[in-house]
Amino acid sequence: MTPAQRATALLGQATSRGAIKRLAKEVEADPVLRTALLVEGRRRGAELPDEALNWPAKRLLRLARGKEAESRVRMNPIRRDEGFQCQHCGADVQAHGRTARDHCPYCLRSLHVDVVPGDRSANCGGILDPVGADTRGSEISIRYICRTCGAARRNRAIPDGDPPDDWNAVIRLTVVQ
Ligand SMILES: [Zn+2]
Ligand SMILES: [Zn+2]
Repeated sequence: MTPAQRATALLGQATSRGAIKRLAKEVEADPVLRTALLVEGRRRGAELPDEALNWPAKRLLRLARGKEAESRVRMNPIRRDEGFQCQHCGADVQAHGRTARDHCPYCLRSLHVDVVPGDRSANCGGILDPVGADTRGSEISIRYICRTCGAARRNRAIPDGDPPDDWNAVIRLTVVQ
C-alpha cells in the first residue's frame, strides 16, 4: 500500500473520536504518512496550511477528513428506497416498499455511494463488504468496510420484505468480532 492509499484508508476509518485517537499513533510515527494525509486532506477541500505537518496527528486526521466528514454531522439521512442490480452477486433487487433497500438481501453487500444515508454524495462507489453485525434492541446493525477505500459504514438488517435479508447470513455476522 502506498502512503497515499494508507492515508485514504485512515481517513475512511477516522469516524469517531476514539478511532482518531487510535489511528493518530500510527501517524505520529510516520512523517511520510503525515505528508500524504496533508495532500489527501487538501484534495478533499480541507484548509490545511503547511504548518499542519507540525500539528498533533489527531488534529491533522480530524481536519483532513474534509467536507465529507463535515457534512456527515450537518445533514440528516434521506430515505431512499430503490431497486438495483447487486454489483457483487448480480441479483436483481426490488425496492422494499416501506424502508430503504440499501443492501442486497442475498449477499448483504452494499455500495459506498452515500456520505449521509441516502444522499448519494460519496464519490467512491466501491462495494461495501459485511464484516460483522451488532444487535441493537430488536434490530441488527450490519457493519461494513469499503473494498475500495476502507471506509466503515453501517446498515440496518431487513428482517421483512420481499425477500427479507438472508437471516442465516445476518446471524453468522453477529458472531464475528
Ligand atoms: Zn448481492
Ligand atoms: Zn469507498
